[in-house]
Amino acid sequence: MLKVKKFTFNPFSENTFIVSNESNDAVIIDPGCYYKTERNKIDEYIDHHQLIINAILHTHSHLDHMFGTHYILEKYNVDLWIHNEDYITYNSFEKVCSLYGIPNTFFPSKKPLYFTSDPFIKFKNIEFQVLFVPGHSPGHVAFYTKENNFVINGDCLFESSIGRTDLTGGNHDQLIQSIKNNLFQLPDETIVYTGHGGETTIGREKKENPFLA
Ligand SMILES: [Zn+2]
Ligand SMILES: [Zn+2]
Repeated sequence: MLKVKKFTFNPFSENTFIVSNESNDAVIIDPGCYYKTERNKIDEYIDHHQLIINAILHTHSHLDHMFGTHYILEKYNVDLWIHNEDYITYNSFEKVCSLYGIPNTFFPSKKPLYFTSDPFIKFKNIEFQVLFVPGHSPGHVAFYTKENNFVINGDCLFESSIGRTDLTGGNHDQLIQSIKNNLFQLPDETIVYTGHGGETTIGREKKENPFLA
């Protein structure tokens, strides 16, 4: 069984996840650690559990989900994986940071790798189905594991809410279609880890989400 550790980081209260298995292999999803204390928390968790970091994955590349990407890439010498349609979001990181007036941000020097047309991606025995769910950003994905009954869905679906679509590349109709055609096809009991706030389930959101009635 995979273990999911959630951290809430940076001024945007973004959720960063470390997913690990029994052999201590791990991946980091959306490393939003911005402050030194937050980076220390990640490092301490990795040290304490003696984890081997295999990769960084981005659900999407908004700044709040990648403040720590540069740091983790350098420190753990791994690759970053994103969807190619989100490269435009990724590449605007520095520009958006300066628009928000956020100092001390570092753009990764290493080029990201792209998810391929194969819907499954595997790091040791940590395997995800990569669901393409654009709308909040043009190349947004979610990481689903049927065996472990969860999906890490970034800023697509939230508890009783959905992602905003007023940022560059956002598209409301596309977001609704992504949720209905992809996320809502998963079993009702699937746990949804969100990019901000608490967890929910597919079944709960099908019943109670006012944006998807
Ligand atoms: Zn976002
Ligand atoms: Zn976010």
